[in-house]
Amino acid sequence: MPEPSPILTIPAWPITDDAVREVFAQMLEDGSWGRYHGPHCETLVAALGEYHGVDHAILCSSGTCAVELALRAIPVTAGDEVILAAYDFKANFSNVLITGCTPVLIDTVAHYPIPDLNQLAEAITDRTRAIIVSHLHGNLVPMREVCRIAAERGVVVIEDACQVPGATLAGHRAGTFGNVGVLSFGGSKLLTAGRGGAVLTSDAHMAQRMRLYTQRGNDAYPLSEIQAAVLLPQLAQLDSRNAVRLERLWELATVLGDSEIRVAMNLQDAAGSLDNHAAFYKAAFLLPQSVTDTRRSQFCESARRGGVPVDPGFRGLHKMHSKQRFRAVGELRNATQLHDRLITLHHPCLLSSSETVRQIGEILQNRFAASYTRDGLD
Ligand SMILES: *Cc1c(COP(=O)(O)O)cnc(C)c1O
Repeated sequence: MPEPSPILTIPAWPITDDAVREVFAQMLEDGSWGRYHGPHCETLVAALGEYHGVDHAILCSSGTCAVELALRAIPVTAGDEVILAAYDFKANFSNVLITGCTPVLIDTVAHYPIPDLNQLAEAITDRTRAIIVSHLHGNLVPMREVCRIAAERGVVVIEDACQVPGATLAGHRAGTFGNVGVLSFGGSKLLTAGRGGAVLTSDAHMAQRMRLYTQRGNDAYPLSEIQAAVLLPQLAQLDSRNAVRLERLWELATVLGDSEIRVAMNLQDAAGSLDNHAAFYKAAFLLPQSVTDTRRSQFCESARRGGVPVDPGFRGLHKMHSKQRFRAVGELRNATQLHDRLITLHHPCLLSSSETVRQIGEILQNRFAASYTRDGLD
């Protein structure tokens, strides 16, 4: 049996603070909680536009439909190819399919869920219309490079910033590098309204196509006033919360040191001299190459029983879907390694105290060591 774990104090998510209480109190007063139209969506549109420095923020009902809107706004047509990494959010793949396009999967770099940009250049054909790039699990994709390769070949970049709202690359916000950026306000995300999403763009034509697509005399993909209202105080606190998460992440990385649980985030880039600051919806770690799927699951369960919210990462898209559904560039070996070995830690941990973060690091190491033997798992 692993050593009994200390009781961890990890904040519940979402955080109901005074600012959120105030929003609800105000909505009860003025009735905006139940109206189709009111001030909150408009205020959020302006706040998101200003925060990101983009001309248009289009609110919608999820990050998933935000990606769909981005594809439709290009517009893609049936038979086009859309490139994405084989390790990515599963709905991005489905969105490519529902728009009638063919997903083209490229590998990631070794050990990090970041697309391999050499393969990106290689994957582009006459049929390529767009690339979807996602900043995943605390990693930031080198967007200037992506955009340079894409622009040379006339390919549109959809930048999925659902996991990293507020992160900066070279001083600019994630989600503002691509032709369109995408945010999610899902219930577990860093900005949450339970559900919801937004598309960011400074391309007036794409913004107009999205409006035409969603406006059917009624908004077909709406975000409600109540959702918009509760996002506003969270946006105001995003930078300060991201700063705490980044600090705790460094502390956790230090505790884990060169243990078997290896940080799978490009932290040098993320907080180095380039004015890059990652955000963490999930933090990623890579288990040793020898780990089996069963052992990874058992370790995650054991750690969760110890109070640490870790889970296996995404399944590789090339592992989930029939080969007839996509075209692959190369053998996708690195993405397969991530599929087999990656685990993610949920972000509320990174808003706990330094002491709790140290305990989390120790629990992870103890539970992983104990999971070598079958009886080591409680
Ligand atoms: C959460 C997420 C989305 C969209 O999520 P919704 O639940 O549809 O809002 C898209 N991409 C990534 C990478 C995500 O993590």
